[in-house]
Amino acid sequence: MTPTAIRERLTALNLRPSKALGQNFLADGNILRRIIELADLRRDETVLEIGPGLGALTAELMAAAGKLIAIEKDARLCAYLRDRFPGLDLVEADAVTAPLPVVDKVVANLPYSISTPILERLVEAEQKPRALVLTLQREVAQRLAAAPRHKDYGALTLFTQLHYHVAIEHVIAPRCFFPAPQVESAVVVLLRRDPRVKLRAGAPFHEIIRQGFSQRRKMLKKLLARQYDAERAFAEVGIPGKVRAEELSLEQWIRLANAVG
Ligand code: SAM
Repeated sequence: MTPTAIRERLTALNLRPSKALGQNFLADGNILRRIIELADLRRDETVLEIGPGLGALTAELMAAAGKLIAIEKDARLCAYLRDRFPGLDLVEADAVTAPLPVVDKVVANLPYSISTPILERLVEAEQKPRALVLTLQREVAQRLAAAPRHKDYGALTLFTQLHYHVAIEHVIAPRCFFPAPQVESAVVVLLRRDPRVKLRAGAPFHEIIRQGFSQRRKMLKKLLARQYDAERAFAEVGIPGKVRAEELSLEQWIRLANAVG
């Protein structure tokens, strides 16, 4: 849909886009096609769409996937979507708190304000989707894909990369949405993978990362020594005593969590 078509549809439905719900609707056919291409859907796959909005992605996803489940919080949009897609499995709920179905893939243009909590839920789910194709604020995408020593590298990077390979596939200009947001977006593809080093069950991976990045300019060993035998663990893993949290690779974090736990 073009920006004009979206405006007309909103007017016909007597709807004003809600800022609180991050309602910036996709208004660019090329980006839409690219997202569907990246999702690489098969007829035997179940897909979850979060925030279907006016259904720009929904129509394409229904055509390509075996089954589509959509979660939308806005009751006004749900009424419209039920009318437009009678066969859609639509759940009117808040995707931050509602139970999330077990699916093969998630494809979503996420509202900016809730993209991080939703992302955390998806990557921490007991039965994780095989792939996530997400449109996010560019800054969030950069945090997911960041490498050690970069300012964007942090807890969210590591929690995500523990389970997923991350690739930023496309940067999207604000004008590709209606209404145009104030920031750039990016399409990110996350593919499920197992890290080369295995995390031992019960190892405090999340805990030490949170502690380490709570004061990212401080030496990691000092921060962890408050709770763990950091001296022994650092020696066991072979990590220099003066490193900061942002200098350790994912594999070093896993080894350290295995050693302190
Ligand atoms: N998918 C549509 C598109 O690409 O044009 C709409 C994307 S728009 C950025 C975000 C959508 O998420 C809106 O439809 C909004 O109502 C919905 N939404 C916002 N918060 C939500 C939440 N907590 N749970 C589910 N949907 C939500």
